[in-house]
Parts: sequence; structure tokens; C-alpha cells
Amino acid sequence: MSAYHDFVSPNADYAANFGDKGSLALAPTKKLAIVTCMDARLNAYAHLGIKEGEAHIIRNAGGVAKDALRSIIISQRLLGTREIAVFHHTGCGMLTFDTPQLRKLVKESDPGNTALQAVDNIDFLEFPDLEQSVKDDVTYLKENPLVLPETTVTGWIYEVETGKIRRVV
Ligand SMILES: [Zn+2]
Repeated sequence: MSAYHDFVSPNADYAANFGDKGSLALAPTKKLAIVTCMDARLNAYAHLGIKEGEAHIIRNAGGVAKDALRSIIISQRLLGTREIAVFHHTGCGMLTFDTPQLRKLVKESDPGNTALQAVDNIDFLEFPDLEQSVKDDVTYLKENPLVLPETTVTGWIYEVETGKIRRVV
């Protein structure tokens, strides 16, 4: 049984308690964009005390800034955000593989299928050092000409073992 079957009942409860959230503005009230990992253990709303309507939460594998750039440009230029917080986390899957390995895995899953060679064009943007990866992403955003120059950029680590955050840069 697919997991999507479990959507309906919780959503009915959620909608029944939706309150006045239907009147929230499109632009985030904190003028904040958070870049964080897609890891299923992370709940940025809960662990940062953010409510609906307050911030963009841009998620991808690793919370990698380069991968988030498209969304960041939209967030800043069209929806008024002026601050970015990058969160990477302990126990991240991005610390456990490298791009050549993953390309090989995909291609070897169906060796006769030449269409899978398309994976050779994908950089999976893995990182071997957690703390350095946060510093690198903050530098990437601060130096990127497509990010507004007045943007406040901070870098953080979330600990999946404790639920605690700590600022890196
Ligand atoms: Zn992760």
C-alpha cells in the first residue's frame, strides 16, 4: 500500500483547523530564506520556531546552496527576502558517497540502457566535511553576483542526535 493513501485523513483534520491561514501573504514576513536538507528527520518549522507565511524553506539533498540558487533568485527578486540561513546537518547522506560512485550505481542498474548515461551530466554536489561545506556554501552565496549584495547570509549545523543548532559562520 502506497504511503499516499495516508494523506487524506490527516489533511481533513488539518483543513478543519486551518484557522485564518488562508489570508496569509505570499511574501515571507521575516524576509528570510532557509536552505536546508531534504532529510526526513529535519522539521525546520519546528526546530527554528517558524510559522507558515514567515520564511521560504528551500530543501534539496544536502541543503546545497548551488542547487538552491534558482529558488533563491525567485525568493529575493520576486518575493522580497533579504536574509539567507544555510543549514547542513550531522549524519547527512551527502557525506557518504561521491558523484562517480552514484553515476556508476545508476548506470549499472540497467547496463543496456544508454539513456542512463545522462547521469554523467549531473554533479551531485556531495561534500566530505560538514563544517567546511557550510562555510563553502555561505561564501558561494556571498560571492554570487546573482544574490543581492546586501543579503545577510549565515551558516549553521543542525544535530540530528540532539535537535540542537549551532552557528558556523
Ligand atoms: Zn542531509
